[in-house]
Amino acid sequence: MTAVPSGLPKVLLIDDSVLIHRLLQVRLQHEQIELFGATSADVGIQMAQDLRPDVVLLDIDLDIKNQGMDGFGVLRVLKSDVDLQDISVIFISSTDSMEDRVQALDLGASDFVAKPFEIVELQARVRSALRVQRLVKMLAQKAQVDGLTGLWNRTYFDQRLSQEVGEAIRHHRSLSLVMCDIDGFKKLNDERGHPFADKVLERLSKILQSGRGSDIACRYGGEEFGIILPNTVGSEAIEVADRYRRAIEQEVWPTMPGTVITASFGVTDVFALAGTPTPEDLVSAADAAMYRAKRNGRNRVEATAVVPLLG
Ligand code: GH3
Ligand code: MG
Ligand code: MG
Repeated sequence: MTAVPSGLPKVLLIDDSVLIHRLLQVRLQHEQIELFGATSADVGIQMAQDLRPDVVLLDIDLDIKNQGMDGFGVLRVLKSDVDLQDISVIFISSTDSMEDRVQALDLGASDFVAKPFEIVELQARVRSALRVQRLVKMLAQKAQVDGLTGLWNRTYFDQRLSQEVGEAIRHHRSLSLVMCDIDGFKKLNDERGHPFADKVLERLSKILQSGRGSDIACRYGGEEFGIILPNTVGSEAIEVADRYRRAIEQEVWPTMPGTVITASFGVTDVFALAGTPTPEDLVSAADAAMYRAKRNGRNRVEATAVVPLLG
């Protein structure tokens, strides 16, 4: 099941009591959330995987009557899955047992509510869990974003490239990689100063980010960038890179009149490489093409040999 994205935080209630579902549907309807429900452990876990909710409200006694997995079992599954372990889980228990509280919190639940609960208290606990979730997401994203340019950083690049290469190969889809290196950046630093060179990095990053929404522009290193283009064949990626190359060359620098900044590009795609390429193979191939662009005079786009080159 996939939800229509509403932009609202998602809350998933996993409880075998239909009554609780009805109650919360009514009582949480004015909260700024999207509420989803599952009445069994299996369906709940599946929905958590599909929906990636921000918060799960989890009943401890779930499915016990059917000898299925109880809430602790579901919690263990969620916490052992890297994609799901950051979801805030609020346990809902029919008893107020201290042992249950301790076990739930030790297993990674973030909160615990005993039935019968005061609805205003549950509403407040959901809001509190969502606030924490927002911060967790923000921090996780910050750790992957480059401070100067706002592009994804190297850590994110490595992880995303490996994921995209895996998917491209599994589904026989194209995937291109563009590496970009600013020309003569050391000289620019020496002659025009670091503050201006930093401005250049910021401005060029905006250009490299201006492509399709699905393209992933990253700062690979100092003045080097890597752009991952899912579902894009090499010839299309060459056109994209050449568009960026021209945009960079034509950029006007009001604080340094007459300055022309250029960059060299290397392009490769999974189909251009023999066998089953690894992410490292793609980076090496794009890098090799980029260095060829440097050798051939800079301000150029070069690509792995089997991809037809631009005019
Ligand atoms: P080429 O055309 O061969 O690429 O020459 P280049 O000078 O650009 O290449 P090189 O790799 O020799 O130098 C890159 C320079 O980029 C080194 C450093 O002075 C500068 N640089 C790297 N990161 C930053 C940064 O974050 N800010 C600033 N201002 N300069 C940086
Ligand atoms: Mg360099
Ligand atoms: Mg350079």
